Amino acid sequence: MAKIDYYELLIVSREATAEELKKAYRKQAMKYHPDRNPGNQEAEQKFKEVSEAYEVLRDDQKRAAYDRYGHAAFEQGGGFGGAGGFGGFDFAGGVGDIFEEMFGEMFGGGQRGGRQAGQRGADLRYDMNLSLEEAFTGIEKTIKVASLVACEACNGSGATKGTSKSTCSTCDGHGRVRAQQGFFTIERVCPTCQGAGQVIKDPCKKCQGKGRVRKERTLSVSIPAGVESGTRIRLSGEGEAGIHGAHAGDLYVVLSLTGHPLFRRDGPNLYCRVPIPMTTAALGGKIRVPVIDGSTVDVEVKSGTQAGHQLRQRSKGMSVLRSSSRGDLYVELAVETPSRLSKRQKELLEEFALESEKSKTHPESEGFFEKIKDALGV
Ligand SMILES: [Zn+2]
Ligand SMILES: [Zn+2]
Repeated sequence: MAKIDYYELLIVSREATAEELKKAYRKQAMKYHPDRNPGNQEAEQKFKEVSEAYEVLRDDQKRAAYDRYGHAAFEQGGGFGGAGGFGGFDFAGGVGDIFEEMFGEMFGGGQRGGRQAGQRGADLRYDMNLSLEEAFTGIEKTIKVASLVACEACNGSGATKGTSKSTCSTCDGHGRVRAQQGFFTIERVCPTCQGAGQVIKDPCKKCQGKGRVRKERTLSVSIPAGVESGTRIRLSGEGEAGIHGAHAGDLYVVLSLTGHPLFRRDGPNLYCRVPIPMTTAALGGKIRVPVIDGSTVDVEVKSGTQAGHQLRQRSKGMSVLRSSSRGDLYVELAVETPSRLSKRQKELLEEFALESEKSKTHPESEGFFEKIKDALGV
């Protein structure tokens, strides 16, 4: 079943600001909330959908990925599988949490109720350019990523080493408080401890109690052979550190291939335009053509070859992702008309032209003029 566009679900324009998105989500979530539609499966489904839409669009990175790739940005099995492979992103806490977070804000007394303790770190995106050759062979790349990592001084806890946290008095350590709101009772994140259940008496100096610090890390990314522009590689757990010891987010390396002076790619196949002299096209001959793996291949040109003719070289194209097979190389022949002729060459060609009139050497052009005559009735 095709998924509905996230912006359509929330009934907002693609240019909607964060504030407009939030308003739109609030409206839709209130409308479809299960408490208001008891036993209504359709409403429940709709509630999940609008929540998912908001979960994505409220995050700048996810929104950018969605704008660019649509739902495909978060689908499973975008090319890789298994360990370290692709996957959709995981929702930080599921549908319930963002709803609570939002309605928590409504009566949180201006407190930013969004940051829950134990919140998973944000996913990060890294754009990488690759040459066609690198995509062909596959390559190990080293990248530098600046992101939030767990503070070493306090082990990510936010409390100065040797001190401990104390139980939050607002929520008695539950991390959540209950409140009546219209016709629902809502349990929301405790505004004092942000859901941690504990408060820090003596915040770590290095991270100001946040438990995370900004740091540049060097990572090694293994790019398999056969990748394409738009291929995403997920480095699980290499995104931002989670808050107060929660799971780190993931890092998505998004590949884009640079153009190549000789080859044009179409999936597993490569196309190479090779100019040949008119005489080779007419008389036949051999041409040497480059191959992406650095070798060359000798290609036979038959006599009477026309411009644009493609000669297929099996298994001389791109490598195919997670396969030992290769695509094909199509050699596209471009017949070059000679220019700046010497006097002698001109004479020879004129003689050739005279001779051509007597014999049917150009069936296509002769046939074409016949067609014009027929069409015009002359
Ligand atoms: Zn610290
Ligand atoms: Zn609390």
